[in-house]
Amino acid sequence: MALIDLHTHTTASDGSLSPAARVDRAAARGLAAVAITDHDTLAGLPEARAAGAVRGIDVVAGVELSVADGDRGVHLLGLFLPDREGPLAEALAYLRERRHTRNRRILDKLRELGVPVEYKAVTALAKGAVGRPHIAQALLDMGVVTSFKEAFTRYLGVHGRAYVPKDKLSLARAVALIHDEGGLTSLAHPYILGLAGPALAEAVSRYRDAGLDAIEALYTEHSQAQTLEYLALARRFGLAVSGGSDFHGAAKPDVDIGRGRGNLRVDIGVLDVLRARRRKRELAGDGEKGLDPLGRPV
Ligand code: AMP
Ligand code: FE
Ligand code: FE
Ligand code: ZN
Repeated sequence: MALIDLHTHTTASDGSLSPAARVDRAAARGLAAVAITDHDTLAGLPEARAAGAVRGIDVVAGVELSVADGDRGVHLLGLFLPDREGPLAEALAYLRERRHTRNRRILDKLRELGVPVEYKAVTALAKGAVGRPHIAQALLDMGVVTSFKEAFTRYLGVHGRAYVPKDKLSLARAVALIHDEGGLTSLAHPYILGLAGPALAEAVSRYRDAGLDAIEALYTEHSQAQTLEYLALARRFGLAVSGGSDFHGAAKPDVDIGRGRGNLRVDIGVLDVLRARRRKRELAGDGEKGLDPLGRPV
């Protein structure tokens, strides 16, 4: 059975492997396809695609965005993105710029707490989109904390003393940007919503109405019960399913590509279904969601 991984990070955001090394690792693990889904950037894609061509592994071009549903933060994956420059690339450039502002505010708070960190020391650790994991690494290098987990619990996480929220696109805006590029959207790691039962169904149905295409039911952190609930919701709301490890490398050392913590299996059939759905959307044309290839309502 051919296995794939549709959620991974590289040095273009907060992963520890270069795009080429990440594709090599996927190929060495025997995966048939891997998606590169860095936070707020497409910068890793050309190198990953080139490595994929050499290694004979299908590289899916993706991105991961933090979006807002009211006060709730939601992560959205965009998959099957093109190389061309356009409104999505412009939006991502803006989000990366806003990251610098946020990172500096985090460092201001750290300084007030008696932990001065130079921003240069943080950006030196990053090759692309700069974020909290790079600040966590700087704190680790300075000996202020002894683990990433401690950096997030004490300082950088939502309940940390130096927390600053991130600027986010609205879910509807992010979905539209990705659709306009011909991509599909998937609700990343739905467990972080912290919802189940009717409250989860209500949220998923609203996201479907906003144009969401898929739900990442298969994910490293999901229990079997959660996976079954997400799969049932996908069926109920006519959403496709996606799956991935969220491999970061050193930042999440116990999570391996394609396998998560050993319990993850995403079959290539998942990718086939997503591709078929994308083709259907393409044939139906922009803004005519809900039409079949002949323009009839479905
Ligand atoms: P940012 O995009 O700058 O807000 O950083 C978010 C990233 O930080 C996530 O994608 C994870 O890679 C990482 N992260 C978030 N929470 C934790 C945590 N508790 N421990 C380790 N890494 C985390
Ligand atoms: Fe990350
Ligand atoms: Fe995420
Ligand atoms: Zn991720």
